[in-house]
Amino acid sequence: MAGPSSTQDQNPPPTTAQPSRLVVLVVVVVVGLIGLVLASDLPGPIRQVTSGAGLVAGGVALAGACRGRYVRSSGRQRPAWLLFGCAALAAAAGNLAVTVGYLADWTELRAVGRLLLIGGLALAAFGLMSHPAAWRRSTDLVRVLLDGVILAGSVLLVLSLTIAPQFADKPVVTGLALLAPPILDILLITFAWLLFLRSTPRDRSALALATVAFTLFAVSDLTAAVRRSFGTFAYGSIGDLGWISGFAVLTLAVMSSRADPGAVEQSPRNSPVAGTLLMFAIVMLAGALTLNAVARATVSLTVVLLLGLVLVAIIARQVLLLIDNDRLREGLEARVIQRTAELADATQRIGLLINSVEDGVYGVDGQGRLSFLNPAGARLLGVQPDTLLDRPAHQAFHSHPLSDCYLRTIVATGLAITSVEDSYRTADGRLVWVEVTASPMVEGTGVRGVVVVFRDVTRRREVDRMKTEFVSLVSHELKTPLTAIRGSLGLLAGGALGELAAPATRMVEIALESSERLTRLINEILDMERIESGALPMEIAVHDAGDLLRAAHDQVQVLAGEAEVQVRLIPVPGKVLVDADRVVQTLINLVGNAIKFSPPGSTVTLEVVSTSGDDDELLFRVIDGGRGIPAGRLEAIFERFEQVDSSDARQKGGTGLGLAICRSIVERLDGRIWAENNDPGPGATFSFTLPAVMPSQSQGELVDNDSAEISAPTSPTTPAG
Ligand code: ADP
Repeated sequence: MAGPSSTQDQNPPPTTAQPSRLVVLVVVVVVGLIGLVLASDLPGPIRQVTSGAGLVAGGVALAGACRGRYVRSSGRQRPAWLLFGCAALAAAAGNLAVTVGYLADWTELRAVGRLLLIGGLALAAFGLMSHPAAWRRSTDLVRVLLDGVILAGSVLLVLSLTIAPQFADKPVVTGLALLAPPILDILLITFAWLLFLRSTPRDRSALALATVAFTLFAVSDLTAAVRRSFGTFAYGSIGDLGWISGFAVLTLAVMSSRADPGAVEQSPRNSPVAGTLLMFAIVMLAGALTLNAVARATVSLTVVLLLGLVLVAIIARQVLLLIDNDRLREGLEARVIQRTAELADATQRIGLLINSVEDGVYGVDGQGRLSFLNPAGARLLGVQPDTLLDRPAHQAFHSHPLSDCYLRTIVATGLAITSVEDSYRTADGRLVWVEVTASPMVEGTGVRGVVVVFRDVTRRREVDRMKTEFVSLVSHELKTPLTAIRGSLGLLAGGALGELAAPATRMVEIALESSERLTRLINEILDMERIESGALPMEIAVHDAGDLLRAAHDQVQVLAGEAEVQVRLIPVPGKVLVDADRVVQTLINLVGNAIKFSPPGSTVTLEVVSTSGDDDELLFRVIDGGRGIPAGRLEAIFERFEQVDSSDARQKGGTGLGLAICRSIVERLDGRIWAENNDPGPGATFSFTLPAVMPSQSQGELVDNDSAEISAPTSPTTPAG
């Protein structure tokens, strides 16, 4: 279990400073105590001082919390926090002025205090408006402002026409001065609520708290406005608790808000339909009450002004909506037209691409039904492109059994196949050889179908077959006369027909050497052809790896002696499941090369290593101290007729086929072969792996050829020399 420190290490530094439970508890207790004092029968001035102290402290605490956020936030956030902070300070100053005004019975100071409070509310409204996460477009902001005006005007209309008709009878300026705080409160509630709806879940708790705080302000301001209109307002009563707790909740909201709130959610789920319906319900109520008042001819100027304000706001809102919708629709239409054109263009380009390729291309759905076939594919199959659509591709032109069908496998596994040879049936019943690459069409997590690219390789196969036949024929035709030539030259060189003159002896030796090289080349070509065509059967049995090494070692002794190179054997115990003759042939080839390319006096090492961690195979290595191989040719030398240097053939008597034969043999025996330069040099190491046999395996189930003598390969690739 991770300790507290490790948890801290793993988490990114928090962007919120959530108020601790203790802070919340202290705030609740203090507010509760203030409430008790305000509800008590204590003398008025004490209650007023308590109320004033609570309000001023609330404002200062809020300003402090805003300062904390201001310091921690970045660029675009800062103005909002600055405005909130100033609003809180204005409120604190206003409340101080109001309290002192009451205590000293100083009306002007109270008026200044109220003006400061109204200013504070206005600043807070600007703060919410400038919140960067709040409004995506400027029209959003105007609409929310209008919503706030409509809502606030309607609520005040309802109030003035129901519970406080006196309030509606006040002079306009007095009436508006009384109305300003609740109007601003309702505006703030609207802003905070809309922000809540649009914000990410992480920012919501803070915005919900802010909405609650502004609602508390609104209730207190409305109550105060109504009571002032009745002339029953008394500062220092329990009604002040709404403001005090409003400050407390707002401070907690600021403390729990993130320094950098997330982006506004784009989801239409958050469209405030319910809020709009509620707003219009209040408007309807206000309208009905106004009609009632008109009928009874009790409409005051304030009511008329309020109604006018609400109506103008509603009309402006609707016009704004119309313009906005129109603009949105136009933008949307333009985008649809643009995207449709792009799509058509892309489709055309893809179509052109697929129709232009010379390879056949077809696609099938998850059930294997043909969904498209390009013209080249249709030509190859001898059909019209559209005639096969929707038919199962397998039935239409595959010639292999359904159980082997790669389309099914690819849909099931999602794995592609590359360069696989197959034969397709054409419309006239012919079979054409094709090379197929088939890939799954993946959508999300599922395979939707398969796309297959195929090309006609009938000609290539035919040419390959003819080439193989030709090589084999020519090689056999060459081999017979060559044997006779070699035999005759051997007799001549051996003096069977009498002593030859010195120049003639030299000529005969050159002829004999050349005929031997030719024989080797023909043998290697034949070997190559037989191994690759599979005509050379492999006699697989269990053999001791050391015996194989020794057999190869024995056969290169003469060559090593001539080259003055020492061959060292390092076998380890181990058995392999192989064709012994072919492995010895491979070893002779590699050791032959190693001797050829090593300087006199050097050592070639022939070893078997058991690869650590892998019991399934044994590693054979031939290490020389010769010239090494250029890094870029390490793989190429395993190709047919590839030599590092073109002079190798002349000087070293090579054909460039030896390593290609080695690779064919090793791969047919399920092994791998590679070359690398010794590091540190000089020289190169040729390594190959062969399947190893576990001791338990070799006892029963497999033929153990351990005791059998290993002879030279039946068709030996004698080391060059
Ligand atoms: P070759 O009959 O020419 O030896 P191989 O296929 O056996 O044909 O080898 C191909 C080429 O790889 C050689 O011609 C030589 O250039 C290079 N090569 C093979 N073995 C070695 C080695 N041990 N050291 C350096 N070069 C080598």
